[in-house]
Amino acid sequence: MPMPQMPPAHPFDDDKLREECGIFGVVGVKDASNFVALGLHALQHRGQEAGGIVTHDSVEGFQSARRFGYVRDNFTSQDVMSTLPGPIGIGHVRYSTAGSKGQTAIRDVQPFFGEFAMGGAAIAHNGNITNANALRRELIERGSIFQSSSDSECIIHLMARSLQRNIPERMEDALRRVEGAFSVVAMTRTKLIGVRDPLGVRPLVLGKVGDGYALSSETCALDIIGAEFLREIEPGEMVVITDKGVESHFPFRRQSSKFCIFEHVYFSRPDSILGGRSVYETREAIGRELANENPVEADLVCPVPDSGTPAAIGYSLQSGIPYAMGIIRNQYMGRTFIEPTEQIRNMGVRLKLNVNRALIQGKRVILVDDSVVRGTTSRKIKEMILDAGASEVHFRIASPPTAWPCFYGVDTPERDKLLAATMTEDQMAEHLAVDSLKFISLDGLYRAVGQDQGRNSKCPQYCDACFSGEYPVVPADMVERGFEMKSAAE
Ligand code: SF4
Repeated sequence: MPMPQMPPAHPFDDDKLREECGIFGVVGVKDASNFVALGLHALQHRGQEAGGIVTHDSVEGFQSARRFGYVRDNFTSQDVMSTLPGPIGIGHVRYSTAGSKGQTAIRDVQPFFGEFAMGGAAIAHNGNITNANALRRELIERGSIFQSSSDSECIIHLMARSLQRNIPERMEDALRRVEGAFSVVAMTRTKLIGVRDPLGVRPLVLGKVGDGYALSSETCALDIIGAEFLREIEPGEMVVITDKGVESHFPFRRQSSKFCIFEHVYFSRPDSILGGRSVYETREAIGRELANENPVEADLVCPVPDSGTPAAIGYSLQSGIPYAMGIIRNQYMGRTFIEPTEQIRNMGVRLKLNVNRALIQGKRVILVDDSVVRGTTSRKIKEMILDAGASEVHFRIASPPTAWPCFYGVDTPERDKLLAATMTEDQMAEHLAVDSLKFISLDGLYRAVGQDQGRNSKCPQYCDACFSGEYPVVPADMVERGFEMKSAAE
C-alpha cells in the first residue's frame, strides 16, 4: 500500500537547513502522554513530518502510537490518547535526516522499541550516527534483523547484544560504539533516561513538573507543560530518573564541548534558553555584531520573517536605522498546497510572504535573514522587494556562509548545491543581483553567543562545521561514500 506523504512545511523549505528531530519525555505524572503530546507540539518546529509517543502503564504494559503529520492533528483525539495510559512516556517528532528520505515508512518513525530479557525499552534519538553504515553491516552479519532504515535503530540492536544486566548499562555500552551526534530520551517500565553525546552537539534539558521530571530538546517545551527548567544535560552525561530522583553518570571519555552553533542562529525557538541565555537575546546580539561588522547607509531594516526578526531588531538598534515589517508572513500557509510541484515551488515565496509596499517604495532596504543555503529564496525575496519599488536592496546574513553540509542530524543539501560552496561573497552578491550581500564573520558569531574573545581556532568552542568545514567527528559513512573533507590547504 502506498504510504501517505507529508507535505513540506512550506513549499520552499528546501532552501533552509532543517532541524532534524525533537525529543521529549516525562515521568511521575498522571497521564504522561498528554504532557508528551504538549511537549512535542512545542517542539514541532524541529520536525513536522511525523511523530510518535510510547508510554508504560502497570496494567496495559508498553503502548505506542506513531503517525505521519502534525502533533495537533494526531495526538489530541481521545481515541488515540486513551490508548496511551501511564505515568511515564517519551515522544519524538521528526524530519528524515537518516533513514528513508522522501517517502517515509511508518516503521522509520520513532520512538523505537526493543524487548530485552530484563524488560522492554523505548528510545527516541535526535542527531545522526556518523558510523551507522559500518555498525549496521556488522550487526546484520552477526544476525540482527533491522526493521527500519533509520540509523537510530542501531542503538537498539547494540543494546540487545550487550552483556550488561540492566538497561541503562546496556545503553551506555551501545552508545560507546556510536559516533556522531546524539541526544537520546529513553524509557523502561520505571525509568526515564536522558543522554547527550560526549561533544554535546544536540541539546537536551531537564525540568521538574510537580513530583515528576521532564526531558526535552528545548526549554520552550518545558514551559508549555508548566515545568520548571532545572538545567541542561551536560555533554557526555547520562541521567537516569526514577521515583527516587535523578542519578547522573558520565560514561564516556570527557571531551571539550562542541554544541551546534546553528541552534543559536536558527534551529531553536527564540523563547528557549540555551547556555543560560535566551535564544532571542543571542539573535539580537548577532544582529548588533552584524551591524558593527557590515554597516551600510539605508532607510529601513527589515527582517525576512520569522527567523530573521530578532537579528534585524539588533541590527536596527545598533545602526540607528529604523526597523520595519517590510515583509509580512501569511501565518496560515502550511498544509494548503500539498503538492510540491515545480509551479507551486516557483510561487512558494509569494504564497508565504508579501511585501508591505507602502513602507518599501522608494526606500533603501536592508534585509536581514538567518542564512543563505541554495540562495533561491533570497533571490525571490529580493525580486519582490524591488517589484514593490525599493531603490536599493542590501542583504545582511546572521550566520557565516554555509559552505559545508551538516552530518550531525540536520538536513542539508549536498555540498555542490550550497551557494557558498561554489562562490565567493562577491560572486554570491552578483548572482543574487543585490546591491550588497554581507555575512557575519565566524568570530562575530562567537562573540554574539557569549565568547568575548571570538573563536578559538585551535579548539573551537562550538561545532561550526557547516561554516568552517572543520568537522569535530569525522563523518565516516560519508567519507566512505566519497565525501571529501577540507584539505589542510583550504
Ligand atoms: S555542522 Fe552546522 S548545523 Fe551541523 S551540528 Fe555543526 S554547526 Fe550545527
